[in-house]
Amino acid sequence: MAVDLASLTLEELTDFIKELGEPSYRAKQLFSNFAAGKNLDGMTDIGKNLKEKLRPYAFSSVEVSEKLCDSDGTVKYLFRLSDGNYIETVLMRYKHGNSVCISSQVGCRMGCKFCASTLKGKVRDLTAGEMLMQVAFVNKNDKVSNIVIMGVGEPLDNFDNLVRFLENVNNPAGMNIGQRHISVSTCGLVDKIKELAEKDFQITLSVSLHAPNDVIRDRIMPVNHKYRVAELIDACRYYISLTGRRISFEYTLIKGVNDSPACANELAALLHGMLCHVNLIPVNYVSERGLLPSDRHTVDAFCKRLCAKNINTTVRRTLGGEINASCGQLRHKKEEEKGNGL
Ligand code: SAH
Repeated sequence: MAVDLASLTLEELTDFIKELGEPSYRAKQLFSNFAAGKNLDGMTDIGKNLKEKLRPYAFSSVEVSEKLCDSDGTVKYLFRLSDGNYIETVLMRYKHGNSVCISSQVGCRMGCKFCASTLKGKVRDLTAGEMLMQVAFVNKNDKVSNIVIMGVGEPLDNFDNLVRFLENVNNPAGMNIGQRHISVSTCGLVDKIKELAEKDFQITLSVSLHAPNDVIRDRIMPVNHKYRVAELIDACRYYISLTGRRISFEYTLIKGVNDSPACANELAALLHGMLCHVNLIPVNYVSERGLLPSDRHTVDAFCKRLCAKNINTTVRRTLGGEINASCGQLRHKKEEEKGNGL
């Protein structure tokens, strides 16, 4: 039971299939079936005998528990995993194609003060196969062109499975999604940002910065006690220098916390001359957190101030407002209903 077949690379799957005494082209068939989100019984090109040989092994899978549709086209899935845990996946429709936002862990241990995903900590890491199945499931009905790993969890806290997923989803024998169409978002695990830089992937790195200095960042992101803002920015510069890729900084605007003109000035100075983009997002209200979003005028003024200082900045369009589409809110509700004190 130890191997999860849907998490293996094509090479590993080929070795595994050969050990079963089967021809290696079977590995390619299996790999492409996983990319199509099929379970063993749904695989039409795998014969009965081989299916019986494979049945004792584990396969990552996701099963829809709830599906919520927003009138703006956003769809949020609450998926049930084989061990009964729940994760969230969101499909967003843009003019340039469909994006799917996937989870990387069940829960999260990073403790950001505005986030619903981390309220009860981390339960476990997702396997590479479970990350793949989220994309594959959505792709069955709505062609996915972009992936953002910005759902529940801290992807760089599940580094090996993340890398495995990135390689598998990019493989032409599988889903074949180009690295430039994939974004990974992190709260700023400096060591892992450097390790990722050394992989030289062409993905986009999003860094959840949310504050221009240690005093404010310490208040809202516990990870900042371990990795200070200056170290994080150094790691980002290292990432840019190795990959040549522009970094996207996420900055959630919270009323009275990080939205002053002084914060905008400090942020502009911090990012001066860097190959980057800033995404401003008024914080989504999470009742357990009680933090309020900045008002429209403050958001616009913050954006203008950064642009005036030549920092490429946009205000993120929010999708899925009617269905609580942001991080962790649906899973949290489900866990509360189940009454399982995670
Ligand atoms: N752990 C990763 C990815 C998951 S969170 C990270 O921290 O980047 C995805 C993004 O949503 C992050 O930028 C996170 O800071 C942001 N986020 C979390 N809760 C939010 C909220 N209530 N309102 C707005 N953005 C939020």
